[in-house]
Amino acid sequence: MSDVMPVTRALFDEVMVPNYNPAAIIPVRGEGSRVWDQDNREYIDFAGGIAVSCLGHCHPAMVNALTEQANKLWHLSNVLTNEPALRLAKKLTDATFAERVYFANSGAEANEAALKLARRYALEVHGEEKQEIIAFHKGFHGRTFFTVTVGGQAAYSDGFGPKPGGVQHVEFNNLESLAAVMSDKTCAVMIEPLQGEGGVVPGTKEFLKGVRELCDKHNAVLIFDEVQSGFGRTGTLYAYEQTGITPDILTTAKALGGGFPIGAMLTTAEIAAHLKPGTHGSTYGGNPLACAVSEAVMDVVNTKEVLAGVKDREQWFRDALQKINDKYDVFEEVRGQGLLLGAALNEKYKGKAREFLVAGAEAGVMVLVAGMDVIRFTPSLVIPETDIAQGMARFEEAVAKVVAANS
Ligand SMILES: *Cc1c(COP(=O)(O)O)cnc(C)c1O
Repeated sequence: MSDVMPVTRALFDEVMVPNYNPAAIIPVRGEGSRVWDQDNREYIDFAGGIAVSCLGHCHPAMVNALTEQANKLWHLSNVLTNEPALRLAKKLTDATFAERVYFANSGAEANEAALKLARRYALEVHGEEKQEIIAFHKGFHGRTFFTVTVGGQAAYSDGFGPKPGGVQHVEFNNLESLAAVMSDKTCAVMIEPLQGEGGVVPGTKEFLKGVRELCDKHNAVLIFDEVQSGFGRTGTLYAYEQTGITPDILTTAKALGGGFPIGAMLTTAEIAAHLKPGTHGSTYGGNPLACAVSEAVMDVVNTKEVLAGVKDREQWFRDALQKINDKYDVFEEVRGQGLLLGAALNEKYKGKAREFLVAGAEAGVMVLVAGMDVIRFTPSLVIPETDIAQGMARFEEAVAKVVAANS
């Protein structure tokens, strides 16, 4: 164990690039939906490492898969294939519309692959005029230069020099604004069926259906970014299953590894055929450790019990938030799907989401924000009812504190 160097939060500022500003506490241990810091203080985890820890911390299925694989084989590179990667790809294609899988190590990388594939497909099938990518204001697709440019917050992509071209943004949930810019030059539309970072905003069924129709009309590839909404988060393995439409490419990461870094792009055989040998790649993508863990996570998540359990838990969260709101009047609405929920603050508390997050941590519960006006909940998909009740009691304390401080 680490009987080595004493570590404090102050060390972060001495040795780390300052692109993050982490909280004062340093967690050292987790079990289920609870985490303990260096002082052995306990927190209930409603954040799940930003929608990643879908089975909580140190779930036995993940620990077993990881340790078993750790004693067999860690890494090969894509010069060779490996058993866990092929098993996971088979399970993903069996469970979705997709027929082919590309493995990456993160959501951004899965999206980077999706965008490059869409461009290559359009170029080879329709010619070089067809290269426009359309995405949505407030959308989020990762932090590589291409994906952050396709994301709908210019603040994230400004200040790094010339951006990749051929990218346009339109209003989410507004079909006219999309129809107005689409043409036969449109190569792809990239969309989150449920915007996460942008404030937990579900795409309406009519809107998503309209997006699909416009893509069909203009021969454009429809890319669903399900990095946050996917892998059981909304109560089905992927959120597209509840929309009545099917994308051409789907990207998945976050919960896919349950905490081990992995991402994947799923697509049809016809589209996939355009990423021929040598056109794209990754040293680690499809790494045996990552795929072994992900396969074990999928075996648990993609079951009737767990997926139905997400809907039960959604209701428990909504009921608890409603009760808190009846008492303190802080939320305008609670929105989202499954266990990707956002409590949007009302006029009086707009801009103050962070205050609730900080007060929550002080009360022993970890929550997230999505922008400045929304408190976001993305807990484990198997969080026990008692942890929800106790975490919500702590969250109520936090709300009371923020209300008192603002009155
Ligand atoms: C988190 C997220 C990403 C980026 O994933 P990384 O693993 O951080 O690269 C992309 N798209 C969506 C919708 C996300 O929520």
